[in-house]
Amino acid sequence: MKRSPSDIQLEKLLRSSKLAAGGFMGDDPRTPEEVIREDAACLERLGKTAAQIAERMRMLTEKASAALGNPVQLEDKFEVRCEEWKGGLICPWPHPGRFPKRLTVCRRLDTGRQIVWSDLNIHLIEAHGFFEGKGASYRLEPEDLVRVLFE
Ligand SMILES: [Zn+2]
Repeated sequence: MKRSPSDIQLEKLLRSSKLAAGGFMGDDPRTPEEVIREDAACLERLGKTAAQIAERMRMLTEKASAALGNPVQLEDKFEVRCEEWKGGLICPWPHPGRFPKRLTVCRRLDTGRQIVWSDLNIHLIEAHGFFEGKGASYRLEPEDLVRVLFE
């Protein structure tokens, strides 16, 4: 399949360190389209959609954010806590608006598994089905997300 100039432009941006330290692609040799396609196939095998995952992440972030940095326990399953930073992050696609530079740390009480995400991660998953490239600092594995958020 021929790649459009906008696909190529986007890849350049995703690989640059300007928007995110180290870029969004890490050392992943695949194109962003391939990363998105393969993660989508993985989600399909796991029986979840990117929208379901993003919705669950957003709910946990909102509950944790209301606790102003204190850890909160939810559903007898999660301990969630938000770390807020000054400033914002922008979507590389690009989209208007900024996402708060906030991290959500979500730990399962039963397994001890922990996942950390930013508000931008939630947007990238929801709007673009993009979990970032392998080796990127904020790459989220769809399998880990499903295991922590839904099992
Ligand atoms: Zn976007």
